[in-house]
Amino acid sequence: MTLAALSPLDHCEAGASAAVIPVDIAAAKAVAASMPVADIETVDLLAANGRVLAGDIDATLNLPPFDASAMDGYAVKAESFTGQGPWRLKVTGRIAAGDTSAQSFDGSVCILTGAPVPQGFETVVMQEKCRLDGDAIVIDQKPQTGQNVRIAGEDVRRGESLLDAGIILKPQHLALLAGQGMAAVEVGRKVRVGLISTGTELREPGTPLHPGQIFNSNRVMLRASLDACRWAEVLDFGIVPDTREAIAAVLAEAAVQCDAIITTGGVSAGEEDHVTWAVGSGGGVLDVMKVAMRPGKPVKVGKLGAALFLGLPGNPNATLVTFRMIALPALRRLAGLSVTAPTWTQAVTDFTYEKRPDRTEFVPVRLCAPGPDGLPRLAMLGRGSSASLRAISQADGIALLPPGVDQVEPGMRVAFEAI
Ligand code: AMP
Ligand code: MG
Repeated sequence: MTLAALSPLDHCEAGASAAVIPVDIAAAKAVAASMPVADIETVDLLAANGRVLAGDIDATLNLPPFDASAMDGYAVKAESFTGQGPWRLKVTGRIAAGDTSAQSFDGSVCILTGAPVPQGFETVVMQEKCRLDGDAIVIDQKPQTGQNVRIAGEDVRRGESLLDAGIILKPQHLALLAGQGMAAVEVGRKVRVGLISTGTELREPGTPLHPGQIFNSNRVMLRASLDACRWAEVLDFGIVPDTREAIAAVLAEAAVQCDAIITTGGVSAGEEDHVTWAVGSGGGVLDVMKVAMRPGKPVKVGKLGAALFLGLPGNPNATLVTFRMIALPALRRLAGLSVTAPTWTQAVTDFTYEKRPDRTEFVPVRLCAPGPDGLPRLAMLGRGSSASLRAISQADGIALLPPGVDQVEPGMRVAFEAI
């Protein structure tokens, strides 16, 4: 991959002549520009929830560690069931989960779920199938040898592979590691993501709004999105006005502190769009300048120092789409995740829409009842406006309308990503 150096002089026209590339290529370039963070930390199991597993894990312990009863009932020996039933077996003891005595027994033993099956016994008959008769039980039906016993190592065998590096640790993975006796696990260091909201017109919610100003919607949307990624932490640089100096200064600061920098706004080729210039003036390089997508065409991807640079357009809908389709895959790669792509679900359109065939379009959609094929139907929201906050707030997902298609008709199969 070649990264085209960007001259600081390329200010407003920056990228004006750059090639427009398909969105999947742009995402692939963003991922390729992202070297997984090498630092590893050991954290206790609970803190590992949602973090990225740093190394492969093999079992060091059989699970279950001993032959254990899967039922409340009576441990018996297959050899006791000769001739015709019913069979009467004396009850010679009782073992509950956690009992450790190595006592030897005869006949049958009352046994509770999770208790070790005593030496010489191999079968458990559930209590509902045993009649108590004085100091004995009576069993009418011959049990299958080994029934209701969980054999040592039948779930997990010592030495076998358990978990692969690069997965997000979920509660069920933590349960498995706990079952192995692990109190802590090695995970990748959190990816440090710098967040910069550019735009002189922006104010934070909760502060007064003057004429011509708008509230900053992207900041909380991206922070909340990243909050859900427990493998990332945000360094929030707040709002920066549309001046070259201010943007260059904050980028320089962010580049030394962050693994990735996300800016919103100021990436088009207008007179108040200074982000591209500021990246160039800081010695940065941009590999993606224009993408054949709507919304999100002016999205930028490159490097600034050692940090990955992701310049997202300012319209909240464009911010959301470019974040999910291009930025997030790259951040996942930085975090060391083996799967970086969005999760697509098949669905069927329930709308008509005219689109340009030379680009991929992403539209907010609502899920409707499935059709006869069982696939969900999609209603389109907020026709065409990439500034619409209402449409994305009502959406269940984002549908991908592929290039090559100029007219979307009801009944067309498309992919959508739940949001
Ligand atoms: P830009 O990409 O800077 O040209 O911005 C495109 C549009 O998005 C403009 O109308 C901006 O006012 C708006 N915008 C930019 N940043 C934000 C933000 N953080 N929150 C809400 N709207 C924004
Ligand atoms: Mg702007």
